[in-house]
Amino acid sequence: MSKYSAGLALLGLLGASGFAWADEVPKGPDEDGTKPALTRIAGEGMMNSHAFEYLAELSDDIGSRVTGSPAERKAEEWGAAKMKAIGLENVHLEKYTIWKGWTRGTADAQLLAPTAHKLHVDAMGWTGSTVAGGADGDVVPVNMFDIDEEIKNVAKLQGKIVLVTQKGQPKKNFMMLFASFGDFLKAAHDAGVIAVIGGQGGSKSQGLNLTHTGILGFDTDFAVPVVSMTAEDQGQLERLIARGITPRMRINVQNTLTSGPVEAANVVGEIRGREHPEQILVVGGHLDSWDLAQGATDNGSGTATTLGAADAIMRSGQKPRRTIRFVLFTGEEQGLDGSFAYMKQHAAEIQNHVGDLILDEGQGPVTDFMLGGRDDLVAAFQPFASSLANLRTIKVNDKVESGTDTLPFSIAGLPGINMNQDTSDYKYTHHSAADALEAQKPDVLTQNATLMALTAFWIADRPERLASPWPAERTARMLRSQGQYEELKAFNIWPFGDLGADEKRPVKH
Ligand SMILES: [Zn+2]
Repeated sequence: MSKYSAGLALLGLLGASGFAWADEVPKGPDEDGTKPALTRIAGEGMMNSHAFEYLAELSDDIGSRVTGSPAERKAEEWGAAKMKAIGLENVHLEKYTIWKGWTRGTADAQLLAPTAHKLHVDAMGWTGSTVAGGADGDVVPVNMFDIDEEIKNVAKLQGKIVLVTQKGQPKKNFMMLFASFGDFLKAAHDAGVIAVIGGQGGSKSQGLNLTHTGILGFDTDFAVPVVSMTAEDQGQLERLIARGITPRMRINVQNTLTSGPVEAANVVGEIRGREHPEQILVVGGHLDSWDLAQGATDNGSGTATTLGAADAIMRSGQKPRRTIRFVLFTGEEQGLDGSFAYMKQHAAEIQNHVGDLILDEGQGPVTDFMLGGRDDLVAAFQPFASSLANLRTIKVNDKVESGTDTLPFSIAGLPGINMNQDTSDYKYTHHSAADALEAQKPDVLTQNATLMALTAFWIADRPERLASPWPAERTARMLRSQGQYEELKAFNIWPFGDLGADEKRPVKH
């Protein structure tokens, strides 16, 4: 007999006396009837997994897949074909457009003085070009941690190559600095800066001789060329400047932005619910990637986990009460364009959604279920997480993940559930030339796909619906209390106006 049986008996008494505590008695797979199906799914997931095969195909046969590019469109066809082969229903592409397409050209740089050697750089996504053939300039530092002041003094940077540094203490949190960096880049272009050396949010590269590409705002392109430089080369420039020496360098960056919008599509397939087919849990990762390598960990891993989870459930023969809708999003790297497009295209059925479940933190083992702001669901989720203890210890919290396709669901008041992962290797492979199949351990991927299959099935099959959308005001309060307001506002994606404005502002680091 399970540890909750006594609680259930007690609940009967309380229920009879009018207390509505039913939702507060957490039932896990041992009590809610889902265990036999989950056991079969776990067996298929762990013993018959195809997740690593999917990742190897995607990585080696298609490779990098920048949203809107021919390779990304090919990946959409590949994803749809895989979903059909797995046996999903209603497999189709859902098209949308992003504001512009972008193609990487070349990026070359040399240090000219005080010594001469090649500098290793790669362009950041959706940034522009130098004059044809490149230009020479002095390297001048700009402090990311004081970026608002730097914007005021931008005129003195004309004809210079700007090196983004991080000195002292940041005056705002990282996402806020990320937003202000965009303002700086626009001002720098207008001031006639040759190029900017700085990674996503002005960050410095991590890893041995690696650059990290990425976008510099939500749905935003910048005319000024911005490059990521290896930590080794950047370190030398910083040390020279600290000693009062002004390095001189040559830089030539050539990229192509389209003049107008380009088409992309999310890939969708379903396991229809046996009792409540109209109620939908979205399960996915993102299919698009950056282009310095194969995009194996960002987010080939999430794609393979999603397809592997679908495959495990289909092979188990188990049918959930509600519909599991598998979605391979695209446009994630440009500002969650695919998942925001999904919310628009499915606006009429959002009330029927239960949430979404996303894996997009790379190749490591799952560590936490982040319930996307829904503190009311933590108690209900905990017994399920505990039931996985023989596979892995996974914690449960109510945190919002704003950096992936969970965010549009959290904004809709639904649990945008992030399967958070150990990122000790991902911080190097993320958006870099090391993002290849070698970075993914097959056993970890197999376990992650199995965990996603179990989580998806449990949510979709448990007798009670896990969640319905919160009203806008409650959602706005939650987002403010989690420190999301300033960031979403800065990126122009805060949809709630003054709603919840009396919520106390938290201290966020
Ligand atoms: Zn990603």
